[in-house]
Parts: sequence; C-alpha cells; structure tokens
Amino acid sequence: MGLQLHNTLTKRKEPFVPRDEGRVGIYLCGPTVYGEPHIGNLRPVVVFDVLRRHLVASGYEVLLVRNYTDVDDKIIHAAGHDPLRAFTVAERWTRVYDEITAALGVLPPDIAPRASGHVPEMLELTARLVDAGLAYQAGGDVYFSVGKWPEYGKLSGRDLAELQAGARVEVNPDKRDPLDFALWKGAKPGEPTWDSPWGPGRPGWHIECSAMAGKYLGPAFDIHGGGEDLIFPHHENEIAQSESATGEPFARYWLHNAFLELKGEKMAKSVGNVVSPHELLRRHRGVVLRYALLGAHYRSPLEFSEEVLSDAAASYDRLATFATNAARVLGGGAEPASVPAPADPGGWRARFQAALDDDLNVPAALATLFDLVAEANPLIAKLERGDASVAGELRDRFATFLDLAGRLGFTPLDDLPDPAAFRPLLDLLLDLRERARAARDFAAADAIRDRLADAGIRVEDRPGGPRWHLIP
Ligand SMILES: [Zn+2]
Repeated sequence: MGLQLHNTLTKRKEPFVPRDEGRVGIYLCGPTVYGEPHIGNLRPVVVFDVLRRHLVASGYEVLLVRNYTDVDDKIIHAAGHDPLRAFTVAERWTRVYDEITAALGVLPPDIAPRASGHVPEMLELTARLVDAGLAYQAGGDVYFSVGKWPEYGKLSGRDLAELQAGARVEVNPDKRDPLDFALWKGAKPGEPTWDSPWGPGRPGWHIECSAMAGKYLGPAFDIHGGGEDLIFPHHENEIAQSESATGEPFARYWLHNAFLELKGEKMAKSVGNVVSPHELLRRHRGVVLRYALLGAHYRSPLEFSEEVLSDAAASYDRLATFATNAARVLGGGAEPASVPAPADPGGWRARFQAALDDDLNVPAALATLFDLVAEANPLIAKLERGDASVAGELRDRFATFLDLAGRLGFTPLDDLPDPAAFRPLLDLLLDLRERARAARDFAAADAIRDRLADAGIRVEDRPGGPRWHLIP
C-alpha cells in the first residue's frame, strides 16, 4: 500500500510519491524566536520528527529543513526597538528552542537556516517578482500583487473575490489592494535593516520561507508543513510568491497539524493561556511531553492537561518497564538480533508500518507496541521461572520492540533509572530486610518490602535469597 498522506492542497489522503525516487525534501516552518515557545507550537516539531524517522525507516533519504524566523515584528518589539538587541533576543531564544526540542527527543534538522542569513536570496526573489510585474514598489515597501496570481486561495480554499470584499480598510494608501502583502518593508527607526534596490529595509515573513525553502530544496520539492494556523495567509502567500516567480509547483504535499487545547485549572491559569515548556519540563520528563504531544492523530485537536500528562507518564512507563525487565532477564540481550533482514514473527513490524503509513497514525502505532508488550510480558515471567525455551522468542520480540519504539523517537531502555545506579542502594535495603527477618522483626521486613513495591520494585523471597524486579 505504501505511505498515504493527507494533503491540504487537495483536501484528501493521497499516496506519497516523491519527486525523486528514494529521496524526500521537507520544509517545516520554524519558530519566530522572540520568546519561549507555546507548548502548542511544539506539536508540529514532534509530528514532523516522527514523519522524518518513519521515512528514513522506510528507506528514503530525507532532507529536513526547519528555519528560524529571526527577522520579525515580534522580535523587534521584544528588543525594545533596539536594532542590535533584536539579534541578541533572536540568538537567545534560538538556543532555548534548541534545548527544549532536544529535551523532547527531536532530532536536529539537516539544515536550520536563519532568515537573517538569507536576505540576498529574499532580495533576488523579490526582484524577480517585481520584474515580472507581480510585485510593485510603494514608498520604501514592496508588495505582492495578489490579484495578479489567479491561483491565490488554492491552498486555503478561499475565494479571492470574497477575501477582497471582506478585507478591512487598509491603512496604507500606497497598497493597490488591501490583500497585497509586503515582500520588503522600508526601514523604520529601531529596526534592523539591509540595503536593497528599493532602499534600506527588511524582508517580510512570507518571503523569508519561500527564499529559504527554494535555496535548500529547489523550486519544487516534496513536503511542506506546519500548524494549521499557517495555512492562511502564510502558506498561501508562500505558494503565490514561489510559484509565480519560478513557474513550478512549489511543494507537492502540504501537511498541517490541528491545534492543542489546554484543559484544566492549572493549564488555564497560565497567563494568556500560554504554557511554558520550561515549566512543564520541570514537572515532567521530556519523553512524557513527547508522548503526550503524540497522543492524538496529528490532524485531530489534542487535549492537553495535567491529567493527560500523568496518563502519558503511566503509559510510557509501561513501555519502559517492559524494556528494563526484558533487558535484565535476557542479560545483555538489549541489542537487536544481528540478523540482516529481521523476521517479523507475529506481524508486529507490518502492523506498525501500516499504522504510520496511514497518514502517520501514531496512536495506532502505539497500540501495536502495547499489544506486543502484553504478549511478551508473560515470556519474561516464564524465563524468570527458569523456562529457558522462551528466551529466543523474547529476544526477538524485544529487538522488534526497541526498533519500533525508536521509530517514534522513544528509547525506553534509557528512560527508567538505570538499575546499575540504584543496585547498591537496593542491595543495602534488601540486606537490612534480611537482618530484620533474622531478628524476627517481620513488621520492619514487610515495611521495607511494601515501600519498595510503592516505588515500583517487587521483592520475592527465593531459596537462594531475595530477588527483585520492576513491576510492569
Ligand atoms: Zn514559514
């Protein structure tokens, strides 16, 4: 069947066929680096990280470009209209963004262009549009003439005539049509500026992405994406600029994720309904935020609350506990089997692949992992009881599990405390418990056992002495 993706451009699910066989170019609109990102802005980053991992696992060579919008009104405002400070503001929040996305297990993009480093490319694209009569100068500004691009509205499904009728009265009398948008903005006091054929100024937001996508992916490429709030006007304008300048179709597939909805008192209390990822990362592991952000299909709204986060932690720990227990009973069996083409007993790989091939259905892929764990957990118990005949089967399941979890960006072996780190403490507690038992202080011995159980560690008394394992 192969990968199917929902394309905003055609409004339906389509088979994914890349321009060049075996290779995929992706452009994801990155953050405007003027402050801490909203947790909702991290949803597309995690979704596209899974898409990229899935494409790579499916055999494609992937080039993912994700930009930083570091020239923008919001940055200028955050810098108090101090042109030099605008760069320090952008630098600071670029680094914070990188830290947060790394904590969420997001792989860095292959190319991370900054708008400020691509002004010559933006000027060149603007000049092409002016030369072609599709853009015009008005004072120090340059505008794209929306009415000259008959396909305007094809991504968002908006009708040009309706848009024009509904447009607010424009404050800039130089604009020929209220819908025309700025490619170049003439210099104003307190703003960073670059020289241009139309005088000093700075690029508009939309031309930044068109220029950076074109530079690294070519005039026509495979996938362009972002949050659904970017469909109009940002992506509509990108298409108009790029396609009218190059005469080629820009991106073949447009992917957009739905919003994240904050629920519950703690979330709603946050100022302006903005939840700080830093604050969330103080209370939750990065992997738990990642799991929660993947908790719904990307085109469905995602509810986000403290309850959702604690459910995500509990669910994820079931996966991590299985991994830790399997690694322990197999004794260094964490490495996937060194068979070149892994077999797929049980059909787990096929089921997982089919889930992600179906427009990146991560919830269905996760359900496959949980079913695998439910089937494999009894094998751990059998092996612990000394039934060595199940070791091969468990090793197989475990290797499959680690591989598939990795395709979602999860490394469940690393996400529980390392038993090696707490083993000496555990030995000490079990030793104290043995002494209590020897002294017939069974209340103390039971208390130690119960407290360990509360911490997720089950102690069993065996003829050779106590044994422990993590509770699945
Ligand atoms: Zn963009």
